[in-house]
Amino acid sequence: MSQSTTATLRAFSFGGGVQSVACLVLAAQGRIDFDVFLFANVGEDSEDPRTIDYFRQHAAPYATAHGIRIEELQRIRRDGSTETLWGRLTKEGSRSLPIPVRMSNGAPGTRSCTADFKIKVIGKRLKQLGASEDSPAVVGVGISLDEIQRANNRRSEPYEQITYPLLDLGLRRTDCHRLIRSAGLPVPPKSACFFCPFHRPEAWREMRRTAPELFAKSCQLETLLNERRAKLGKDPVYLTRFGKPLDRAIPDGWDTLPFDEWDETGLCDSGRCFT
Ligand code: SF4
Repeated sequence: MSQSTTATLRAFSFGGGVQSVACLVLAAQGRIDFDVFLFANVGEDSEDPRTIDYFRQHAAPYATAHGIRIEELQRIRRDGSTETLWGRLTKEGSRSLPIPVRMSNGAPGTRSCTADFKIKVIGKRLKQLGASEDSPAVVGVGISLDEIQRANNRRSEPYEQITYPLLDLGLRRTDCHRLIRSAGLPVPPKSACFFCPFHRPEAWREMRRTAPELFAKSCQLETLLNERRAKLGKDPVYLTRFGKPLDRAIPDGWDTLPFDEWDETGLCDSGRCFT
């Protein structure tokens, strides 16, 4: 007796950074197999513009040239309009604080940004493509061996089964760089919202130096959030863990930051951002 079976959907959650681009190269080389790469763009005004430029100028054309399906997704409201994370944060009268801002002791607060703007956006597309609780999609996430602790805390949604192709292949971040260069692609910038409180001090310092307009916008956001909190009688919050405004936490012109060790408490453990 023959039984009809539906092939399991295999999708890759493409973060836009080094690990995700390395996975794209591995797919082009036939070393890993995914039906589609899905990039959840948090917003034209929210993602680091260098990540969006890289996606459109390099990643998407490379995928297309190698016959790999890649899609750029956004969060769409019920009325059909696009919602961005920056838009939600800065909306007049909003009390929403969806990003992992740092409390005065430096610890990150709870966040809903990754769930609302990455996981659910990709989840919606997975369901459109046939994933369900009964038939979960296999979803690849680009965590490399040197960041293996980020994979340990991962919770799956009911319609997906997470897989970590870089861990399966034993590849580190430096291997990803090599793979990307060997494919003739430039190494992409770190992928994240430019104002993300998970940035390491070194990333903020580099932003202040090379993209001062993004640094200034991040400072303005921090000020706006704190003006709102002050009106509600709440403590200030910060984009860094140093308990002071960004402009003072990351001074202009510093050559080295003495406190730039990897911040274990601040890592995004979902693997949907910073991959
Ligand atoms: S990069 Fe940061 S701010 Fe943006 S969605 Fe991820 S955790 Fe939130």
